[in-house]
Amino acid sequence: MNSNPNVWLVGAGPGDPELLTLRAARVLREADVVLCDDLVDDRVLDHVSPAARVLKVGKRGGCISTDQRFILKVMIREARRGLRVVRLKGGDPFVFGRGGEECDALRDAGLSVEVVSGITAGIAAPAVIGVPVTDRRFAPGVAFVTGHASESGHPVDWAALARCGLTLVVYMGVTRCEAIVTALSAGGLAAGTPAAVISAAHTPRQRHAVATLATLAAAVAAQKLVSPAILVIGDVVFGATELGLADRVQAARRVGG
Ligand code: SAH
Repeated sequence: MNSNPNVWLVGAGPGDPELLTLRAARVLREADVVLCDDLVDDRVLDHVSPAARVLKVGKRGGCISTDQRFILKVMIREARRGLRVVRLKGGDPFVFGRGGEECDALRDAGLSVEVVSGITAGIAAPAVIGVPVTDRRFAPGVAFVTGHASESGHPVDWAALARCGLTLVVYMGVTRCEAIVTALSAGGLAAGTPAAVISAAHTPRQRHAVATLATLAAAVAAQKLVSPAILVIGDVVFGATELGLADRVQAARRVGG
């Protein structure tokens, strides 16, 4: 940890402000300027001092986003003026949050940065419907991947993922659900593999569907599940016994093949 940071990259967790860390709450209280993503629940901002300036700089799939260069410019300018700058991001800042890129740019500008980890949606969204992403009875591990082709310079090797035996947790994948399912099926993942989609987890708009690989895209369409949503694919979805989901998965399997 840096002893004298100018900028804090803070994870706000998936939604519910109770899922904020104590450190995040403290850093927010002490901030002079907060640049906030639009995935962050407004109630999280209750921790911010009334004297602080809050800038909403969010970006959401498909919508016009605040230019990344502009965000960096503001952060650097305000930090150089001696203000305490907090960049508040949904979930964890280092999981599909561009936290790494922002850290590099800030450090290149001579600033010191502290990262305050947050609870990532890829773990918290499955958990809210009782799915443990690494239940050892079903999978040796978990892969976090982006479903948004252009998100990283590296194409996702869906065929390799289909064979790897890991739980697949897909961020930014709900609008491309059908293509993802097709690619995983082509790679050899069984049509009856259990799968779930959780939309807006840990918010008042939370909804989910449990299906199989074969029926996932239809379930998303039928229930009109929209972004932000996490897809979780793999036998760990059986672990969701708490809500009686295992029976429904079995039933879906019989229908879905
Ligand atoms: N840094 C964030 C991820 C940002 S990418 C994190 O660690 O969680 C944005 C994607 O995160 C969304 O497209 C969606 O896939 C996922 N996401 C974020 N919040 C979510 C929520 N409350 N419920 C379900 N998915 C969520």
